[in-house]
Amino acid sequence: MTEKKGWKDIPIGGLIAEAGTAKEYKTGDWRTFRPVVDHSKCINCLQCWMYCPDSSVLVEDGKMKGFDYDHCKGCGICASICPVKCIKMEKEE
Ligand code: SF4
Ligand code: SF4
Repeated sequence: MTEKKGWKDIPIGGLIAEAGTAKEYKTGDWRTFRPVVDHSKCINCLQCWMYCPDSSVLVEDGKMKGFDYDHCKGCGICASICPVKCIKMEKEE
């Protein structure tokens, strides 16, 4: 059985004790649809990267490389902003 903490031992509500904790929290399992890119049509404009609210578009050497599915919540903004419509939202299995 886990020992319960008293009110003096638990941190104040809303307090973030250390920096960078959002990275550790995998929000990708909230998703019902996942973005999938067709790299053959992508023009690497990086608008998806600019608009993604979760910093989940992966870029390497100025090129769009895919998605960080650990943190992408599947909002679909990247798919709607893409000027050549090469991102499709597919239902999670
Ligand atoms: S679906 Fe939303 S969270 Fe996921 S990569 Fe696209 S814009 Fe970012
Ligand atoms: S918005 Fe579309 S074309 Fe532009 S980098 Fe992203 S996937 Fe490629």
